[in-house]
Formats: sequence, structure tokens, C-alpha cells
Amino acid sequence: MSALNSLRDLLIDELQDLYDAENQLVKALPKMAEAATDDELKAGFSDHLEQTRIHVSRLEQALGILEVTAKGKTCKAMKGLVKEGDEAIEVKAPDAVRDADLIGAAQRVEHYEIAAYGTARTFAQTLGEAEIAELLQLTLEEEAETDQKLTVLARKINIEANAAFSNKG
Ligand code: FE
Ligand code: FE
Repeated sequence: MSALNSLRDLLIDELQDLYDAENQLVKALPKMAEAATDDELKAGFSDHLEQTRIHVSRLEQALGILEVTAKGKTCKAMKGLVKEGDEAIEVKAPDAVRDADLIGAAQRVEHYEIAAYGTARTFAQTLGEAEIAELLQLTLEEEAETDQKLTVLARKINIEANAAFSNKG
């Protein structure tokens, strides 16, 4: 049981949730990169791992501005999303079908992050915390770019996945 007494408390809670979410991703993305067959998808996951480490440090900065230590919350949603990613990693499927599955899992993650960062950024703006709002906006834009790159990759990989099925009749 915890209490939130103000919008500032709620912003801190959102930042702690995101901090855990991003740390879960630092662990999950190398596994997704390893499971991916397509070279561009593999590289995309590795690139996003590097960005995700920066996202972690921006959240530490944001919490630092609020004089709070980053820690102590579990993002339950990211736990579930990572589990779905694990299912895609473990599924027995043609390579391109697994890649298409991994993209679906990754885009769910990006959309969750986009929603969470948008919410937190707007709280920060309302609170007059311009520097925090700016940090969150930067990350939000990188999540959106990642989502768009995945959409472009899916166009190619979905066709390959469909061909893999056709070949086996
Ligand atoms: Fe992120
Ligand atoms: Fe992300």
C-alpha cells in the first residue's frame, strides 16, 4: 500500500515505473537480438539496447532533479511484455515467422513506452519541471523512431514470413 499525495508524487511514481521498465529491457534486448535472424532486425535491437541505456540514465537524471533515488518499483506491464517477447524467442517457427513475431512483441513494448513517457512528460510540464519534460520528450522521440523503424522492417519480413509458409505448401 502506498499513497500519492500530489501530482509530483505521481510523476515520481511514473518515473520509477519507467526506470524499472527500461532496466528490464536492458536485460531483454540482447536476447531478442540473439533470437533475430534478419541482420537489420538484429542490428536494430542492438542499437535500441544502446539507446535504452541512455533512457535509463535520463530517468536517473530526472529523478535526481526531484532529489529522489531511482529504485524500488516493478513495472508489471513490462514484465508481461517481456514474457511475450520470450514466447517469440522460444517458439518453433521458420526464421522469418519468428522475426515477424519478435517485431510484434517489440512494437508492443515501444507503444507502452510511448504512452508512459507521454504521460510523464505532460505531468512534468504541468509541474513547471521543464528540464525533466525535455529529457522525457527526447526519449519519447527515440521510442517513436524505433517503432517506425520496426514498421519498415516488418514490411519486408512479413513478406518473407509469408513466402516461408507458401514454400512448405
Ligand atoms: Fe526506452
Ligand atoms: Fe524502447
